[in-house]
Amino acid sequence: MKDLVSIIDVKDHVGEEIKIGAWVADKSGKGKLQFLQLRDGTAYFQAVVFKPNMIEKFGEEAGLEKFTEIKHLAQETSVIVTGIVKEDSRSKFGYELDVTDLEVVGGSVDYPITPKEHGTDFLMDNRHLWLRSRKQHAILLVRNEIIRATYEFYNANGFVKIDSPILTGSAPEGTTELFETDYFGHPAFLSQTGQLYAEAGAMAFGKVFTFGPTFRAEKSKTRRHLTEFWMIEPEMAFTTHEESLDIQEAYVKHLIKSVLENQRYALETLERDIDLLEKYVNEPFKRVTYDDAIELLQKEEANNDYDHIEWGDDFGSPHETFVSNYYGVPTFIINYPKAIKAFYMKPHPTREDVVICADLIAPEGYGEIIGGSERATDYDYLVEKVKEFGLSEEEYSWYLDLRKFGSVPHSGFGLGLERVVTFITGNQHIREAIPFPRMLGRIRP
Ligand code: ATP
Ligand code: MG
Ligand code: MG
Ligand code: MG
Repeated sequence: MKDLVSIIDVKDHVGEEIKIGAWVADKSGKGKLQFLQLRDGTAYFQAVVFKPNMIEKFGEEAGLEKFTEIKHLAQETSVIVTGIVKEDSRSKFGYELDVTDLEVVGGSVDYPITPKEHGTDFLMDNRHLWLRSRKQHAILLVRNEIIRATYEFYNANGFVKIDSPILTGSAPEGTTELFETDYFGHPAFLSQTGQLYAEAGAMAFGKVFTFGPTFRAEKSKTRRHLTEFWMIEPEMAFTTHEESLDIQEAYVKHLIKSVLENQRYALETLERDIDLLEKYVNEPFKRVTYDDAIELLQKEEANNDYDHIEWGDDFGSPHETFVSNYYGVPTFIINYPKAIKAFYMKPHPTREDVVICADLIAPEGYGEIIGGSERATDYDYLVEKVKEFGLSEEEYSWYLDLRKFGSVPHSGFGLGLERVVTFITGNQHIREAIPFPRMLGRIRP
């Protein structure tokens, strides 16, 4: 409504009488004073109702009635509050509203989320309401800032956003995590990645990124896996893997820096360690080869409780956590064994057994946030790989075409949005990093 002021903007109205449309998040009171914590989605704000003011304005009877009504407002009642903005250094926000009138818009009874304590299943069943709580609100504002900063970064660096399809006929990241659906009598799959399409885009536009939902039927419950998550997948023609790593580092630093600058209040609400985030912005990320990471893990295994690991094994999350914590900054693990990576990665020029790739591992146990590689450019090599991985040559013929018509060195990567939200907000579980999470055993609300 046109004459309402957003809470985030009240600072521009000191001394003025304004109207705010909001919900009652909490209230407390003593004697002649009633405090209302209001939220309108932009921020939180305290409104103060003073009984004598109500009586003075509305008369003895009507004033008392209004004060009593306000005193009994239930949590999540929606209201339009009129009042005068006062500067107040005691309030966390720096300002307060001296209420002159209040109108109830929509009532509320027995709000299920608070004040009782609840387990996660209950909160997830009530995710549509849980979103309103301070912590969830703060996490999702950080998510929004990361999305904004993503567009800012890629637009500033000359990337074109191209949209990859969600319904596809093939499964590049392996067939065990596929959601299959019916496409007019033919099998189709929900996209696990937009990468192959991004590669086609890079050959048309030079530097591109996709940003969309991706789907994986992750059949185990972990703190790091959703079945529907959002991925940002840049792909760059005439770009080596080294250059791609520089872009990845600059991008992740830009995300952290943007959140520090534009959502600091949210980070404080979440009690995130700001010094650590600043360190990640200011210090170079570590780059270590897979070989050296394995050696480190083997050397340190006696003093730690992760499982023994051999060259050729994929890391479990305890291994990733150990390596990134060892260096204390986001860490690229470079050049994994060919056998545990995707078919499209470029083979190492002097080593048979590894491919040119890296995973970026966040410290503090947040795990893999990026997987990237230089892409194989040779037509015959890729045809071999497609066969070796049991994929259909016919299904991938369009992708193989990219190596027939002006193949160039190119690199790219995929960053999981919710992984980064979890990392930057310092939250323990990925399910809170997306408004309506989809995971094993959870598809509503
Ligand atoms: P992980 O080893 O953690 O299962 P992955 O190696 O299978 O991840 P990639 O195929 O490399 O994942 O996907 C690129 C990025 O997408 C990952 O680095 C991660 O940030 C994110 N990601 C992958 N799977 C999931 C998932 N199930 N839920 C949320 N994010 C995911
Ligand atoms: Mg996986
Ligand atoms: Mg992985
Ligand atoms: Mg990966």
